[in-house]
Amino acid sequence: MHESILNKSVEYIKGVGEEKAKVLQSTFGIKTYFDLLNHFPYRYVDRSIISKTVEAPLEQEVQLKGEIVSLKEVQYGAGKKRLVGVFKDEFGVIELVWFRITKWLITSIPINAQVVIYGKLTSFNGKLSISHPEIELYSSFATKNTGFSSLYSLTDKTSKKGVNNRWYQKVYINLFDEIYNLIPENLSEQIIRENQLISRKEALKNIHLPENIQALNQAKKRLKFEEIFFFQLQMGLKKQNRIAQNKGNPFLNVGYFFNEFYSNHIPFELTNAQKRVVREIRIDMKKNIQMNRLLQGDVGSGKTMVALLSMLIAIDNGFQACLMAPTEILAQQHFNSIQELILPLGIPVELLTGSTSQAKRNEIHSGLMEGNLKILVGTHALLEDVVQFEKLGLAIIDEQHRFGVAQRAKLWKKNSIPPHILVMTATPIPRTLAMSFYSDLDLSVIDELPKGRKQVKTIHIYEDKRYEIIRFIRQQIEKGTQVYIVYPLIEESETLDYKNLMDGFEYIASEFPAPEYQISIVHGKMKPREKEAEMNKFSTGKSHIMVATTVIEVGVNVPNASIMVIENSERFGLSQLHQLRGRVGRGSEQSYCILVTKMELSKEAKKRIKTMCETNDGFKISEVDMEIRGPGNILGTQQSGQIDFKLTDLVEDKQLVYLAKRTINELLLGDSNLNHQQNQMIKNYFVEYYKSDMKWMKIS
Ligand code: ADP
Ligand code: MG
Repeated sequence: MHESILNKSVEYIKGVGEEKAKVLQSTFGIKTYFDLLNHFPYRYVDRSIISKTVEAPLEQEVQLKGEIVSLKEVQYGAGKKRLVGVFKDEFGVIELVWFRITKWLITSIPINAQVVIYGKLTSFNGKLSISHPEIELYSSFATKNTGFSSLYSLTDKTSKKGVNNRWYQKVYINLFDEIYNLIPENLSEQIIRENQLISRKEALKNIHLPENIQALNQAKKRLKFEEIFFFQLQMGLKKQNRIAQNKGNPFLNVGYFFNEFYSNHIPFELTNAQKRVVREIRIDMKKNIQMNRLLQGDVGSGKTMVALLSMLIAIDNGFQACLMAPTEILAQQHFNSIQELILPLGIPVELLTGSTSQAKRNEIHSGLMEGNLKILVGTHALLEDVVQFEKLGLAIIDEQHRFGVAQRAKLWKKNSIPPHILVMTATPIPRTLAMSFYSDLDLSVIDELPKGRKQVKTIHIYEDKRYEIIRFIRQQIEKGTQVYIVYPLIEESETLDYKNLMDGFEYIASEFPAPEYQISIVHGKMKPREKEAEMNKFSTGKSHIMVATTVIEVGVNVPNASIMVIENSERFGLSQLHQLRGRVGRGSEQSYCILVTKMELSKEAKKRIKTMCETNDGFKISEVDMEIRGPGNILGTQQSGQIDFKLTDLVEDKQLVYLAKRTINELLLGDSNLNHQQNQMIKNYFVEYYKSDMKWMKIS
């Protein structure tokens, strides 16, 4: 049996026809049997339940039994008419409304007969009503099996053409009558058995025409599994392919630089997680295969040290290394700390950003080409074509979500054999998301913070209590600490936001007058040089307070700062809040994060603030974030849309994601090209529906 049976046009299904086929295509992009099979209901209702008009829930689809006692056309607006019916059951009355009147419609509505009506109940001007209800004579309703039924998304256009839920039901019955036994399986017997799944045809039938909730749940489980399975298969094959095509630079030695630094110059004890991750990276870079690894770790978990140690391995093996960060401030800071750390080793390191002078650039370019310059830290400026290395062995990208796939690809081309790649995330992303979306990367996780860190205390304060914060800040500054005060800056409301920032700055300046207090200010409109000067003033302890927009969001490291005040924090997203909070709690002092909000908060804002107050765990926060915003938004604009699961919810369906992942690993380990007889159906399906996305795949 082959998928091709499913490529027939929906037009040929009994009950569809040319006109409805056109509507299905223009509204939902449904062309073939396959498309219709995969056009899943968005919700289900129990049709055996008949509500009473008085008790029926508002804004939901309800089913009522009674009589339509009158029907009349009512004028509204200029020349517009609607048809209004009065429906009565034993308990009360509601209005039925049609906005498009045809002769056929009027004659088809039964008056004074027992009917069952179905539709969304709304309340308008104090009257209950249902627009465009589905109506059926009770006599015919009662003879049918009206158990559990599926709801499909409908539009005005589809409804007008008679494409409604009853119609879908009939069409699916006809469709399954025609092809049920011809629907090919796409998972092997073994996979079905081991994961306790039902067959594909059963699942497809039950997702559309479920007989009961158990059947529906089994159908969902099977189809979700399938969805993740094929997505991950694609990723798995991609990874296999990358490995086959890209030889790596094997870093066989751990030599002088690494050992000397490791034994004598690390200013603290590495955490066990850092040690484990460095080992994972070292083993990976030793192989004759290009490393492509994602390093996840919460804010402050010490990813930079891991990056540096990896770079030293590259240098020990005669290669160069680079580290790219998304902002100038961050690149500058990485540069400063790396330079200081490896000073005793005498390894040349330079910084390249948009504001590097031409003379300096020239020097860097030739240093790189000649191979004298071993480590380059920088921003996007690193990606420019003029930046060429003698022998680039390792490229590290910090805060990788800020960079697109194309930019990463550019780094690959900086060496004839592509460099090993290590990407680091700013904020943890949920494991299920990492496992799905980044499953062609290997994953290392730092799941432990350095010892002695005190949990940041997070407090929510409404803006009318701001004066309390001022007093608190004053006390803390007296103890010798430093303070961040952050304002949102959003492009759409930039002018107003700048005004807020400046007003805020003035307010703070009046509460904390010079010369006793020094205040730094940093925002996006300043020149890099000015920013840097203000940052330096703060990081060297010359100023007490840093007033800033979110330019300090990522990476900035001033261990003596222990208070983070976030103004208008209801306007920030969770990962941003978590990032900002991560700027404090880096020293030994008890740190505080104070979330200031306006009085009225949306439901989502409340949830964000509450989550922040309850936990410091970045992985937990990222899961809540994914619940609120969906996986596409978490990945960032450059990557959203690529992970558009129809059924799977990466939060709820965690277990299935793990199951599918394990299944794929085992499958590819035993049959990397899906050549075994028992895996033919998997291959057939994959080739039919996924291969076009991956033209260069060897599989055929
Ligand atoms: P992130 O993972 O957020 O990039 P950083 O690499 O900036 O974190 O590290 C945060 C701070 O923790 C830095 O000041 C760094 O020197 C320090 N640090 C890193 N590892 C350790 C450790 N094992 N013990 C103590 N401090 C550490
Ligand atoms: Mg960092």
